[in-house]
Order: sequence, then structure tokens, then C-alpha cells
Amino acid sequence: MNQFDVVVVGTGPGGYVSAIRAAQLGLSVATVEDDRPGGVCLNWGCIPTKALLRNAEVVHLFEKAADFGITIDRFQADYAAAVKRSRSVADRMAKGVEFLFRKNKITLFPGTGSLTSKNVVEVKGEDGASTLEAGRAVILATGSEPKSLPGVTIDEKTVISSNGAVRNEAKPKSIVVIGAGAVGVEFADVYRSYGVEVTLLEALPRIVPLEDEEVSTQLTRSLSRRGITIKTGAKVSAVKPGGAGAVIDTDGGKLEAEQVLMAVGRGARTKGVGLEALNIALERGFVKVSPTMETSVKGVYAIGDMAGAPLLAHKAMAEGVVAAEAIAGKSPRPVDYGNVPSCTYCRPQIASIGLTEAKAREGGRELAVGKFPFTANGKAVALGDTEGFVKVVADKKTGELLGVHIIGPEATEMIHEFAVGRTLEATLEEMMHTIHAHPTLSEAALEATLAALGHAIHI
Ligand code: NAD
Repeated sequence: MNQFDVVVVGTGPGGYVSAIRAAQLGLSVATVEDDRPGGVCLNWGCIPTKALLRNAEVVHLFEKAADFGITIDRFQADYAAAVKRSRSVADRMAKGVEFLFRKNKITLFPGTGSLTSKNVVEVKGEDGASTLEAGRAVILATGSEPKSLPGVTIDEKTVISSNGAVRNEAKPKSIVVIGAGAVGVEFADVYRSYGVEVTLLEALPRIVPLEDEEVSTQLTRSLSRRGITIKTGAKVSAVKPGGAGAVIDTDGGKLEAEQVLMAVGRGARTKGVGLEALNIALERGFVKVSPTMETSVKGVYAIGDMAGAPLLAHKAMAEGVVAAEAIAGKSPRPVDYGNVPSCTYCRPQIASIGLTEAKAREGGRELAVGKFPFTANGKAVALGDTEGFVKVVADKKTGELLGVHIIGPEATEMIHEFAVGRTLEATLEEMMHTIHAHPTLSEAALEATLAALGHAIHI
């Protein structure tokens, strides 16, 4: 039996970050991985989809070359080449994790890990089983997998998940995307940019339903303008083979398409990890954890998607740091779940933090709401990218930043000034006194803050 201070099962953003942090704190660390290091995020999720979305953006720039006085007679966008580029980006990032493991003297055991007792992990690899003993703790970080609808099998041919979508080098002629959360709208963007007929179905009354209502309205307008058919309040009840590939039954009638992308959410990977034998408590399908990420069994920690919402890589990383520091005997500051930015990388991009305006109103307090459109921002006009706005929701009396919602160019980069502001408990006035360089997109953030205070300058 190999002995380590910590054994980490799963090397996605939660697992690999916790392993590195534990090693930095002087602990000996083993990791167990049944795929490539980096997990879903680096190999099949966040990173390869961002590469595909970058391709989509480049296609878009070529299409509007004439706006910049550039004449392109004919250009061809090769979808298979986009997928190949995306795969090489993912490979490079996975190799980066392997490098970081070597640098931090972290041992990687390929195979499937499961707990046989609270401090023993059995690794079933291709070349036989090995057993690892954790002196101090085990960190479970096995992530999540795409969900489907009852009775619908994801075959990754006609009915695909995001896993199939990032791998398939062939694009369909038509696709129905079921679910308009982050996965749904990001792939709708990629496919539409490459000329696919896209229908986006959402059971709830609006797309990206967790975002502020005005963001949903703007995104609906932008995606519709690009030729994506959007149907909301369209709950899918069945998907069957037929027609061009699949027939989709919704509340509002039948649709057909060559392919269907199932984007109805992800479920925690909790099976086969040994949770049942140890009686590790679950809560609504996710592992129940303490503020230091410890499960109901002392010495066993769970982080990332398997430990609950939000299912985001950066939340997993933050939890990984907390778990590693707790195991090393430090007193880490627990993750602030109310201050996790949410980013969706479709065009226009969406980023938000804190409460939507509707949620903030539920508290009954008086709000100061400021909005600034990118059409009035010099840098956005110069870039030729003016769709969207920044919206700031604050408490009128105290100036507390309750929520910020950005849709538009580089929204996913811009959100962080508000994340820092909220961490430091900055008020609207303090944000206002922060000089923003001119010309930048970030000036729209300053102007939205000024608008909430009632005196935006450039509108
Ligand atoms: P999601 O839960 O965000 O969205 C799923 C959507 O499907 C919901 O809006 C839901 O109402 C809808 N839906 C469910 N059943 C339906 C039905 N029968 N018919 C029609 N619509 C239906 O899930 P997702 O987009 O699959 O993403 C999974 C997870 O991965 C999420 O937690 C998401 O935050 C995360 N993720 C994040 C990013 C990012 O941060 N950019 C990208 C991809 C995924």
C-alpha cells in the first residue's frame, strides 16, 4: 500500500487545485484520474468550448470584414478544423496540469478511485488494482456528467451531449438544442456561426433563466437576429428517432432536426466512489459538506460539482483551496457562495454576480439601479461591438452592491471589478471614485455605477 498525506480522487479544476495547494503546504499528495488530468473542464468543457467559441467569433469578424473596409471575396470556415484546434487547445492545457503535478511532486495514479475505508482509496487501472492510504484525508472531486430527459438515451450520434458536441468534427445541417442555460446558448452560438439551422428550446419562460430578466431579453434579441429560432415555455417531453434524424415533442408541438443537443443540466458523479459503504450523506443528489468541505465522515472531503451548486470550475477551485488548507491545519476562509461570478461565453457574452433586480426587490428594500449601454461607450463603438449593457443593482440607502449584470463585449472579463468591489464591501460611491482608464469597455461599468447614483455622464 502506498502512503500519502492526502489522496485526491478526480483531477478537474477542484481536484488538481486542491492537490497543488496541499503540496504547497508540505503534504505528500496522490491523485487518481480515470481520464486525462484536468477533468471535464480542461478536456471536454470550459476550455475546448472557449476554443470553439473563439472560432465562431473569428468567423463573425470575417463576415463583417466589409464594415472595416476589408474585402474578402470568399472565405470558407472548416468546422472540422475548428474542432481539431479546440482539441489541441485542450491537450495543451491537460499537459499543463501534468507539468504542475511534476513541479509540485504530486503522484498521478491513472484509474478509477473508490473509497474502501475512510482513508483507503482503491485504484482500478488497466494494469491491475493498486491501493493508496491517506494518512490525513481523502478529497473527492469526481465532478458531474450531462443529464438527459427520462426515456431519452444520449447516443452521441443523433442525441448528443456537450461531450459529443466538443468531439464531433461533423456538423449537422440542423440541430435542436434542449435547454437554454450556459451549455445550450454557447453551443447554439457555435453551430449558428457555422451555418447550422439552430432551434433553442427552453422550458421556462425565458432563456438563461437564472440571469437578470433584461439580460435574457437582450440575448433573445441578439440570438434571434442571428437566425437562431428560440422557443420558450417549450418543455420537451420526448425525443424519438424519425424525420431528418430526431423528432422532438414539446408542449407547443413537434419539431424535427438532424441532431439534438441535450443541455438540460448536469448531475453529480457520486456512483462508484464508495460513498454508500461509508454512509456519506447526500443532499438532493450532491454530497453534503461543511464550510471546510468535509463530508459527514471525518477526514473525507468533497469539492466541486459533486458537492453542489453552482456547478462552476472557479467555485470548485475555491473549494479545493479551502479543503487543502483545512487538511493542513489552517483556518481557511469558507467560500462565499453569494459572490461567485457567473459567465457565459456566447456572443454577446454574459457575466453576473450577486442578485438579479427581481431577487433584490424581493427583500422589500429600496434599490438604486443604473444601466449603461455599450452603444454609448467609445471603445465599444471603436471595436464595432456595441450590443448590450452594464446594469448595477444597489441598496439605495447604503450603496451596497447587491448585483451586477453585464451583457456585451468582454463581459466575462469586466465582471471582476465588481467581484473585488463586493469582496471589499465597496459602496457605489467608492466604485465611483475609482478612476477608469479611457477609452475602455470598463468605463461602461463606471457609468452604470454613476447611473445608479443618478448622474451618468455619457448618456
Ligand atoms: P442549466 O441547468 O444551466 O440549464 C439547463 C436548462 O434546461 C434550464 O434552463 C432548464 O430550464 C432547461 N430544461 C430542463 N428540462 C427541460 C425540458 N424538458 N425541456 C426544455 N428545457 C428544459 O444546465 P446546462 O446549461 O446544461 O449546464 C450544466 C452546468 O454546467 C450548469 O451548472 C452550468 O452553470 C455549467 N456550465 C457553465 C458554463 C459557463 O460557466 N460558461 C458553461 C457550460 C456549463
